[in-house]
Amino acid sequence: MKVDETIALLKRAEDEYGPDLVFASSFGAEDVVLIDLISKHAPSIQIVTLDTGRLPQQTYDVMDACRDKYGIKIEVYFPDTAEVEAMVRESGLNLFYHSVENRKRCCEIRKIHPLMRALSGKKAWITGVRREQADSRQTMAAIEDDTHFRLKKFNPLIEWSEAEVWSYIRDNNVPYNALHDQHYPSIGCDCCTRAITVGEDPRSGRWWWEQEDGVAECGLHASPIKRK
Ligand code: SF4
Repeated sequence: MKVDETIALLKRAEDEYGPDLVFASSFGAEDVVLIDLISKHAPSIQIVTLDTGRLPQQTYDVMDACRDKYGIKIEVYFPDTAEVEAMVRESGLNLFYHSVENRKRCCEIRKIHPLMRALSGKKAWITGVRREQADSRQTMAAIEDDTHFRLKKFNPLIEWSEAEVWSYIRDNNVPYNALHDQHYPSIGCDCCTRAITVGEDPRSGRWWWEQEDGVAECGLHASPIKRK
């Protein structure tokens, strides 16, 4: 039933927004489920992704695996070269480990600015967020107004559980990031992601060195992630 509801929402978004709609994918487990569903049921939806320049090889591998399996076009957005060069000249390549401010600056330049270019001129976007991923996502809805980017935002998997995501991946033979098999539930840049152990919060492998009130900014969804 959740699959049917998700397909209906994707079709509705496709019908209402057409070329003014994009799916911003990071190729995590939720996002490959959406790629499978979009390619089968709403194929005109554009798929975009961000290459920060610091992604793990396994993420590039799953991007190409999806491209090959589904025959889809993936628009890859890169950071502005001059912005990255100025940041590295001033603060070094591994600036994100030295302060929260530096880490936010790196995310801004490598992720937020390219995402703004990807969303420029669009009226709506699709994400793979799920409610149970973080406290800050408890109040999110399947369709909402994204006041940060000033777009309509569709979250078709908002009610899915982690088990349902993996059941769909297995049942449909969907390509997925090999790091998930190495205890990486949440995957971002290589240098800012690590494996977790049993009992740890799924998001605790991201920016694990930051202790600032137990809160890490996810950035792309403009909502703080409260660590448990
Ligand atoms: S996750 Fe790390 S490397 Fe990637 S953009 Fe953010 S701070 Fe930079």
